[in-house]
Amino acid sequence: MEIKPIPLKNFGTNCYLVYTEKTTIVIDPGSYDVRVEEYLQNAREKQRIILLTHCHFDHIADAERLSKATDTKIAIGAMDNDGLSDRNINLCNLFGADVKPFSADILLQDSEVLMVGDIEIKVINTPGHTVGGVCYLIGHNLFSGDTLFKLSIGRTDFPNGSFKTLETSVKKIYNLPDDTKVYSGHGEPTSIGFEKKNNPFIRG
Ligand SMILES: [Zn+2]
Repeated sequence: MEIKPIPLKNFGTNCYLVYTEKTTIVIDPGSYDVRVEEYLQNAREKQRIILLTHCHFDHIADAERLSKATDTKIAIGAMDNDGLSDRNINLCNLFGADVKPFSADILLQDSEVLMVGDIEIKVINTPGHTVGGVCYLIGHNLFSGDTLFKLSIGRTDFPNGSFKTLETSVKKIYNLPDDTKVYSGHGEPTSIGFEKKNNPFIRG
């Protein structure tokens, strides 16, 4: 299995491609990027899915277009689906962004396990940055969206944000093995062990 980070121009959001011979997963296509488009167009015979970690505009903006252009379903944590069509909740109003309202095809619940081709994805609800934010665990790799960053955590001053809730969520993912690699929504990858020891906001 390969993991290819695609840092996007807008807001430095990390989009990720996760793929095998049989499967292609796109995580957080937050703005148009020709590499993501081409990759999905060339993966027509593979099983594929678009996973969203949460409903903020900089993680979702190209999802619906990409979904239609490549016939790929979109999944999101159930509680964040409404935010996809709410300009206050998805921060379009705050940042002057424009995302056409849409709805995901698949609404995910906590602890749900999705099988896409030969890749198993575990859904971990991690509210706090948004009300329905999730992390995706694929093997020993955690795609943490804006819940946990290298030496930082997601903002909790946006609509429906809560530091207390985020703290509980981060402590929940700190229970994963120390060598779990963390691929965040912004910035460099890190690991659970490193953050438990060094994260200045929430220690394990
Ligand atoms: Zn966010």
